Amino acid sequence: MAATVIDGKAFAATVRDKVKTHVTRLVADHGITPGLAVVLVGEDPASQVYVRSKGKMTVEVGMKSVEHKLDVNTSEADLLAVIDQLNNDPEIHGILCQLPLPKHLDEDLIINSISPAKDVDGFHISNVGLLGTGQKSMVPCTPLGCLMMLRDHHGSISGMDAVVVGRSNIVGKPMAQLLLNDSATVTIAHSRTKDLADVVRRADIVVAAVGRPEMIPGDWIKEGATVIDVGINRLDAPEKGEGKTKLVGDVHYESCAARAGAITPVPGGVGPMTIACLLANTVTACCRANGLEEPEGLTA
Ligand code: NAP
Repeated sequence: MAATVIDGKAFAATVRDKVKTHVTRLVADHGITPGLAVVLVGEDPASQVYVRSKGKMTVEVGMKSVEHKLDVNTSEADLLAVIDQLNNDPEIHGILCQLPLPKHLDEDLIINSISPAKDVDGFHISNVGLLGTGQKSMVPCTPLGCLMMLRDHHGSISGMDAVVVGRSNIVGKPMAQLLLNDSATVTIAHSRTKDLADVVRRADIVVAAVGRPEMIPGDWIKEGATVIDVGINRLDAPEKGEGKTKLVGDVHYESCAARAGAITPVPGGVGPMTIACLLANTVTACCRANGLEEPEGLTA
């Protein structure tokens, strides 16, 4: 039977709608407009594209969007001063420092200088610790988006066998933690994992966050499993014309879709959920900062 395609683009639109409804209520009932500040250092083209679309979508849901574009040679002290100013700005509820940062800047230091309450990326060590101990935290956007899609598709994932391939701080580890908090039985695989194929074959849920194009073939997938493909890999696509490229995930889509019960496509799966969850986190942060009830279904 053909796998159900989990439409991340459509699901992300429903998340953004929920955010918009809540923002409208915050403005009307409390005179509060949630504000998101994005800090970009340098001119990395991919980061510029992300920052632009984050800004556009922030405004579309009725929130205030602030962008700080800093020169590639900005010093650590100057960047810390910008973050300090945003930490103390009552109109800003979420701060995101676009990664990667130029090499001369200490990424951990910068991330940990963001107020944990405004850390809408969920990368601050306080939020990592809160998530790890099952407490209320800001949850990293990409894994949060994956969790929302899994909950939506399965209802409950309690007791399911989940394998996360990849152990990065921004995707793999927080993903595993979220699955564990939802009572899945979780295995984290990585580049040193022995018999990766066998490990993946046991899984009811496979989350692939590796960064290697189409690395996971269909015959690793248990019949009926749910496959969440986080990978975004750009490949040359001469079949589409000279100089053309295409995006593929970390799983081989056709062969995995032939065995899976459900699968996210690339593009149009996890990707759109990431920005939607950033907006969701900003509204959650704004409600918490003002002692107001949080919107339901927008966080873990
Ligand atoms: P990363 O920091 O490079 O981590 C990759 C992980 O994959 C590492 O833990 C690595 O293991 C593991 N790995 C590498 N080769 C492997 C192999 N042959 N077998 C098993 N594991 C292997 O990457 P990331 O930041 O987590 O991102 C992963 C992918 O998700 C990338 O394609 C990225 O573009 C994409 N991504 C998408 C979104 C989105 O919005 N959709 C957001 C973030 C990232 P070791 O730790 O042992 O080296």
